[in-house]
Amino acid sequence: MSPKQKSRAGKSKPKRKHYRRIATEEAFAIPEQMDVQRELVATAKEYDPDLFLWNIQTDPAGPVYHKLLDLFDQRLKTMDEYDVDMHLLALTSTGVQMMPADKAAAVAQVGNDRLAEAIARYPERFAGLATIPVQDPSRAIQEIDRSINKLKLSGIMINSHTNGEYLSERKYWPILEAIADHKVPLYIHPRSPIPLMAKAYRTDHLEHAIWGYQAETGLHGLRIITSGVLDHFPNLQIVLGHMGEGIPYWLYRLDFMHGRVRIGFDRPKLKLTPSEYFLRNFYITTSGMNWDPTLKFCIEVLGADRIMWAIDYPYQDHPDAVDFLDAAKISENDKQKIYHENAERVFKLKRKR
Ligand code: MN
Repeated sequence: MSPKQKSRAGKSKPKRKHYRRIATEEAFAIPEQMDVQRELVATAKEYDPDLFLWNIQTDPAGPVYHKLLDLFDQRLKTMDEYDVDMHLLALTSTGVQMMPADKAAAVAQVGNDRLAEAIARYPERFAGLATIPVQDPSRAIQEIDRSINKLKLSGIMINSHTNGEYLSERKYWPILEAIADHKVPLYIHPRSPIPLMAKAYRTDHLEHAIWGYQAETGLHGLRIITSGVLDHFPNLQIVLGHMGEGIPYWLYRLDFMHGRVRIGFDRPKLKLTPSEYFLRNFYITTSGMNWDPTLKFCIEVLGADRIMWAIDYPYQDHPDAVDFLDAAKISENDKQKIYHENAERVFKLKRKR
């Protein structure tokens, strides 16, 4: 089956079966974030793949600016139109991770406060993942604590690398430990590869969502596995979007190659195989991957208990994601798990009335 993109233009609204639909990777922005990013774009000295996107994203005439800043108007109408119950929101990539540490801490706080206010206003429609200033691990840990204990947010969102560094590096282990201690999941969301790596992708602009995001974020997930950090925090749960950023497809080869005798180099010794960590410590979402064959493959490899539905709004649209899972040729039981039951369990999203 080819990944044909169906269009519903001109068709009347179909009668849809009712599911509780919880979309788990939905983006929003706040003006404060836009302001800092606009400044970073204006003062950039060389090409940066993410600032290239922020230049479009911060443009009021661009395709996503208003959709990102809107929480209560068009967003809720669109959710109603497609029978989507809830958006699990997070500040759009790259969050605060490109900002100087002081600004990152300030904007993360405002963003998390604003998110908590939106959830308080529409507790049935919104839940949220906290943004943290990864650049400054001790302040990041304070914000994790505030976001989970005080603001009651449902987890932490980190947009892959921070200044070219990965969460698998020792200086960030306290952040992973704090997230594990709070018993909430860490969602590792894509951003573009670091400029050095992106260089190889720049011909035909492959450094963004078409391939670079997956290359970068899959690498991040893999580095967490191979670093051995999951032997220290065995209960940490990590969520990857886009059907696992390519990792599920590669598990056989990861196990085979990781287990081989190595000549001239060594890796940290691990208690489990890479695939065993993936099955124990990772969830995936369907964000932006509305394709049956991949879904069926991931159900076979990971089990339906480890897969959650997502739209990736406003970068992708409600009807494609809803039509995809509604029509997916999988069991009704699995569909209920993927649409809402897993998200309710993982992000502790009980119905509030
Ligand atoms: Mn996304």
